[in-house]
Amino acid sequence: MKKFICVLLCLVFLSGCGYSSAASESFECMDTFMKIDIYGSADDAADIRAEIERLNGLFSAQDESSDIGRLNKNGTADLSDETADLLSQSLELCGETGGALDISVYPIVEAWGFIDRNYRVPGESELNTLLQSTGYNKIELSGKTAKTDSGMKLDLGAVAKGYAADKAVEIMNENGVTSGILNLGGTVAAVGEKPNGEKWRVGICDPENTAAYFGSVSVSGRIVATSGSYERYFESGGKRYCHIIDPKTGCPTDNGTVSVTVISESGTRSDALSTALFVMGIDGAKKYWRSHRDFEFILLDDKNNLWLTDGAEASFKMNKDYDYNLKVITASD
Ligand code: AMP
Ligand code: MG
Repeated sequence: MKKFICVLLCLVFLSGCGYSSAASESFECMDTFMKIDIYGSADDAADIRAEIERLNGLFSAQDESSDIGRLNKNGTADLSDETADLLSQSLELCGETGGALDISVYPIVEAWGFIDRNYRVPGESELNTLLQSTGYNKIELSGKTAKTDSGMKLDLGAVAKGYAADKAVEIMNENGVTSGILNLGGTVAAVGEKPNGEKWRVGICDPENTAAYFGSVSVSGRIVATSGSYERYFESGGKRYCHIIDPKTGCPTDNGTVSVTVISESGTRSDALSTALFVMGIDGAKKYWRSHRDFEFILLDDKNNLWLTDGAEASFKMNKDYDYNLKVITASD
């Protein structure tokens, strides 16, 4: 529900620009609400929606007949081209982020109740046992055949929306649609520019009030993905537990990070890194950015510090009602 509010928000914000889209589709998919607005035909919008729904049918861990569902059930599966492609890209990103992204954390996500919403705090020995059946490096992908260790279960939830955004942009390119904004529930593809030549403005949710945004980035040809502790969480014993797991401990990430927005040319990369940088926290995120520099990020912490890479700062505008402490990150300091 929280994501729904956030999605609506972005759209209200965007429609404030005074343009009406030529075609749009709104639907529920990948456990979130999506809205596609393109300057193309109704058929183009329907094609994009159908592709996202088809991908969901391949990736969903909760559907036993999907590629990932079959792999989780049988420990091995022959995969479709797209699942093999996403799995291969994901494994690379798991390695590149030092395991901050780990697509094998599903049994842990389940144990905390984030799948069936029966939230609970698992005991230490239960978590230690579960940790033994996680580890992306135990996943084997050979061509289109995947194999996992016994007890392992994969979850592409941290990357699937980004990959779907990439595929949606591919369809737009194939169909000659040069302008549009695709909001896949927190992962937003800003394709081309608005018809008046301006960049798209993508709002970033206020974690305290998801019906508002604390700022926006002006982008063109970029995919903007946000991971936030406010998206899904529960409280127990006065403590808040969020849905992003630190794969090293098996516990919800608790490092002072509240939300991370990543801007890059690749949806898969933006989505994967928004999750991974959240787990790394500000020090790890800065270090990671300095050694890659092919993306920009904005990180809000629980002390009201808003950390922005210099490239992100150049496209960012803070809403006047907010007074976060801006901290610009440069390549050298
Ligand atoms: P996102 O909203 O893109 O940050 O993805 C979060 C979702 O990915 C969670 O709901 C889990 O299903 C899964 N997840 C949680 N922690 C991790 C992690 N460290 N690495 C990969 N996937 C994760
Ligand atoms: Mg993600």
